[in-house]
Amino acid sequence: MNINELTAHEILRKIKAKETTAEEVHKACVARIEAVDKDVNAFVRLSDDAPDIKSHKGLPVPIGIKDNMCMRGVETTCASHILEGFKSPYDATVITKLKDSGAVLLGNCNMDEFAFGSSSESSYFGPVKNPWNLDCVPGGSSGGSTASVAANEAIWAIGSDTGGSIRQPASFCGVVGLKPTYGRVSRYGLIAFASSLDQIGPITKDVEDNALLLNILAGHDPMDSTSVNLPVPDYTKALERDVKGLTIGVPKEYFIDGMDPEVEAAVKETIEVLKKQGATFKEISLPHTEYAVATYYIVATAEASSNLARFDGVQYGLRVHPKETRKSKLIDMYEETRAVGFGDEAKRRIMLGTYALSSGYYDAYYLKGLKVRSLIKNDFDQAFKECDAIIGPTSPTTAFKAGEKTADPLSMYLSDIFTISANLAGIPGISLPCGFSKAGLPIGLQVMAKAFDEEMIFRIAYNYEQSQEWHKKRASL
Ligand code: GLN
Repeated sequence: MNINELTAHEILRKIKAKETTAEEVHKACVARIEAVDKDVNAFVRLSDDAPDIKSHKGLPVPIGIKDNMCMRGVETTCASHILEGFKSPYDATVITKLKDSGAVLLGNCNMDEFAFGSSSESSYFGPVKNPWNLDCVPGGSSGGSTASVAANEAIWAIGSDTGGSIRQPASFCGVVGLKPTYGRVSRYGLIAFASSLDQIGPITKDVEDNALLLNILAGHDPMDSTSVNLPVPDYTKALERDVKGLTIGVPKEYFIDGMDPEVEAAVKETIEVLKKQGATFKEISLPHTEYAVATYYIVATAEASSNLARFDGVQYGLRVHPKETRKSKLIDMYEETRAVGFGDEAKRRIMLGTYALSSGYYDAYYLKGLKVRSLIKNDFDQAFKECDAIIGPTSPTTAFKAGEKTADPLSMYLSDIFTISANLAGIPGISLPCGFSKAGLPIGLQVMAKAFDEEMIFRIAYNYEQSQEWHKKRASL
């Protein structure tokens, strides 16, 4: 195996044993990016400075950063034309934490524009491709981050997850992606999509790396009032425990008509494996699951339309001067900038969200959405009285073909049916590989747990992963 195909924990062991150096690892990643990224398109921008890696103490692991996290002095654009030229005056808290940990920042990873999407096709910088099959999408919206790891360009990466944007692309790309509990990781410096749902999380080649990277990212931050002041455990300790005596819930609503039979079979097979390891399974019900997608697309678009109001050509990025004055110079400038700067999906979401919040419709849509959100959260509270964790598929299908859903936004929205509820309820969820389809595409298993019980997730995920070989497979690109 080439060094860039290894996991971070393997690399760190080799560095310690003086079998390699941080410089060598960085060079291998950069060479890989040069060789394959013209096909994968996982990066929109590379860090230009040759980093002084010798001064990086700690964990000098090359990492990909989703293009919605602010890095001081570096262009950050959410893969949108409207933020072209915007350079952040400060580092996001996760970036500060990574820099303090010794991380080597490789560059900004491609994504759906403003994280709106499930296929990473709506980027201003062109679509990302799935390293397992370049005709397929990598999932989204953190598709650049997951593809960079699956293509062995980055050793690990970070993404953001508002309705599944870490877990669904992790599932499509055959990597491990965790959405932590809302409040576990600081959102300071994450360009907001839907502030009550967004959460940053680790994307890695295996579960051990995921725990290691969460150790770096997690923790209270006075700069983010929604981050929670609870002690951060050493997540790698959770890997030492077996699953004997645990009760795992299987929601009957998560095996639906129209689901890919290969996905269903792979997930059912993992249940057998975990049973042999000593876990008990129980059918549970999350009765409001059928309302999750509709609720999410009201709450998320309402918040997005408010958050995106600030991009108007005044403070950030692009400014378009209209050729003629129709209303007033200022209003025309706002309109022209937003018309040129936002892509179709961003405009669609701004319109949907503004509609849901507008007078006369607020009660019928937004307020109702918030009420149903409480019911969905309540479903999980009830379920966790009966079980320690919940297991199911991450997505009803494997990666779909590029272009297949772009003309039909509703079918695209439905691909998040199993991931959205965790964001609405604020609970953590992971996706890890649990098989491959006959066509050679990865299948993802989702494990969810109570708020702030990421340790339970890691424990179950690690025990399952280590009994299988899926995490050792690498895309032959
Ligand atoms: N795919 C979902 C959407 O389009 C989720 C996106 C996300 O989590 N950022 O909104």
